[in-house]
Amino acid sequence: MNQDPRNDQPETTCPDCGKTYQPDLASGLGGGCPHCLARMLAQETEKDDGEGNPSPPLAAGDTLGGVEILAPLARGGMGVVYKARQPELNRVVAIKVIDAKLAGVPEFTQRFEREARALAVLNHPNVVQVFDYGHEDGLCYLVMEWVDGTSLREILAAGHLSADDALRYVPQICDALEYAHAQGVVHRDIKPENILIDREGQLKIADFGIARMRSDEQTGQEFVTEASQVMGSPHYMAPEQQQHTDRVDHRADLYSLGVVFYEMLTGELPLGRFPTPSQRVKVDVTLDEVVLKTLEHDPNRRYQRASEIKQALTAPVAAAPAAVPATPAPAANRPHITGFAWWSLACAVASLPVLWEMTRAWFIDAEELGRSFFT
Ligand code: ADP
Ligand code: MG
Repeated sequence: MNQDPRNDQPETTCPDCGKTYQPDLASGLGGGCPHCLARMLAQETEKDDGEGNPSPPLAAGDTLGGVEILAPLARGGMGVVYKARQPELNRVVAIKVIDAKLAGVPEFTQRFEREARALAVLNHPNVVQVFDYGHEDGLCYLVMEWVDGTSLREILAAGHLSADDALRYVPQICDALEYAHAQGVVHRDIKPENILIDREGQLKIADFGIARMRSDEQTGQEFVTEASQVMGSPHYMAPEQQQHTDRVDHRADLYSLGVVFYEMLTGELPLGRFPTPSQRVKVDVTLDEVVLKTLEHDPNRRYQRASEIKQALTAPVAAAPAAVPATPAPAANRPHITGFAWWSLACAVASLPVLWEMTRAWFIDAEELGRSFFT
C-alpha cells in the first residue's frame, strides 16, 4: 500500500500492470484496476491485426451505401478503403469508410464531408471520380471509381521508377492540379500515397480529404477549426503551409509536387541543403532548373500555375533539334562538318584510279568469258 500525497486515501499497486490506483475510487468499476479495465475495453473495441492496426470495420459481403464489400484495399489516415461492387450498375468501385472510432468525432466527420463535397465537383481523368457519399449505421462512406493499380508510394518503394516514368507522371499531376485549382480546390496533401497509377499508366490523384474550397474561404466559418491545425505531411508541405496553414493557396500544392518530383528522380527527399537531381543521379541538367523553381521557398518565386511546370517540361522536348536543323549550324560546328566533307571528297578522288583498274579488269574478264563461251 502506498500513500498518495494529494489525499488521505491509501493506494494499491496492481499486481498485473504495476500501476497504482485507489481501491475506493475503483469500487464503481467492481474494485478492479482501472488501468487494466481501460486496456481490456480498448482491446474489445479494437481487434488487432497482429501489427498494431485495428481490424477493418467491414467484412466481405457486408453492404454499405448500396455497395457490397469485396475486400479491404488499404488503411489510410482517415479510415479503410475497400474494393466493392455496385450491384445496380454491376461495376467495381472503391468505398472509403471512416474509422468507427473517429466517426463520433465531429472534426473528422466534417473533414470527411468536406472531402466528399470537394471531390464531387471534380471531374477529370487524372482525379479519382466520386460517385456518392453519405452516412449509414454510424459510418461515413465515400463511393468512388476503383483504380486498378497501385500508389506511387509502392512504386517508389519497389525502386521501379525511372526518370522517363517521372516525366510521364509529372505532367499528369500538373493536369490534375491545374484543373482542381481552376475549380477553386487546393489539395494540400500531395504525396506519393495519394497518387494512384492504374495498369495503363494513367495517373489519378486521390484523397482530397483536406482540400480547401474557395467558397469556404469566403464564408470563413468552416475553417475556424481547420485553420488552427497544421494538416498535411511535413516532408511534402510547403514552408508557408507549415507556418501559416490558414494562408495557403494553390502554390502550396506546386511545392508538394516539387518534393514528389525530386523524390521520383532521386529516390530521396529534398531535405536541408539538398543537391540538385543531376548531382545525385544521371538526369538531364535542364530538369534541375524546373525542380528547383518548383521547390522555391517563396511562393512568388515558384511557378505560379501547374500548367507552367508541365510546359517547362514539355517545351525542351518540343524544341529539341530536328534531324535537319531549320537554321544553319552555329559557326563553332561548321569547321567540323566542312572538314568531314573535304575528307570524304579526297577519299573519293583517291579511289578513282583503283575503281578504273577494277572496272577495266572486269571488262577484260567479260570479254575473255564471252570469247570462250561462243567458241
Ligand atoms: P486516407 O485519407 O485514409 O489517406 P486515401 O484516399 O489516401 O485515404 O486512400 C488510402 C489508400 O487506399 C491509397 O493510398 C490507395 O492505396 C487506396 N485507395 C484509395 N482510393 C482508392 C481508389 N479509388 N481505388 C483504389 N485504391 C484506392
Ligand atoms: Mg491519403
